[in-house]
Amino acid sequence: MSLRSWVFLFIGIIGLVAPQIGSAQVIKSGPPSCPGIALTFDLCPVRKGTGYDQALVDYLIQHRIPATFFMSGKWIAKHDAEVEHLLGIEFFEVGTHGEVHAHLPMQNADEQRQEIHRPVRFLNEQYAHDAILFRPPYGEYNDITVDVVKQLGLRFIQWNIESGDPDPTLSAEQILARIEKRAKPGSIVVLHANGKGKQTREVIEHLTTDVLPRKALKPMTVSDLLACKQKNP
Ligand SMILES: [Zn+2]
Repeated sequence: MSLRSWVFLFIGIIGLVAPQIGSAQVIKSGPPSCPGIALTFDLCPVRKGTGYDQALVDYLIQHRIPATFFMSGKWIAKHDAEVEHLLGIEFFEVGTHGEVHAHLPMQNADEQRQEIHRPVRFLNEQYAHDAILFRPPYGEYNDITVDVVKQLGLRFIQWNIESGDPDPTLSAEQILARIEKRAKPGSIVVLHANGKGKQTREVIEHLTTDVLPRKALKPMTVSDLLACKQKNP
């Protein structure tokens, strides 16, 4: 091959690779070819109550439903036994959700790094758990957040279906209808396991026994969905 050809080949390769570099790392869904759906549960800190939906978690475990939890540092600090329990379930995945549930776009880079990194470090040091997945509090972020998450080697996980489960004005049927309308292969649904979602357990029951089987969608953890790895738990 002539030098000229090599140069053109090189430019061609750069052209293919370059759009991937620096492109948004924010993941809102998995591969649309994957017949799975990720049910994700945020564990944001709460001022009142136990901050833990025991009935929901029991249901998920009893029926062996893969699920992903995003824990905030403040929540972890008050729920040692629950953290241990969730980490011990082989079909659950655990990621983080900021330290104090801050509004990240209002913080500078150092503050964002602290907010994002602290629970990751804590889970690693205290529970020997590598939490790779990160979801920003309130789903709020800016370019700095994307950079920090990337530098920390984490995966930035948002969602493409907002269940609305903490909204006390929504009935279980309404939440279910919202999810059913949008659910498709590769979807990531955001829900809550901190007791804020009064209907969440009931929603999950109808979803996993009726809606998802009808749509031939299998619940998967976020990492399994992204890799489209199908297991039989
Ligand atoms: Zn939250």
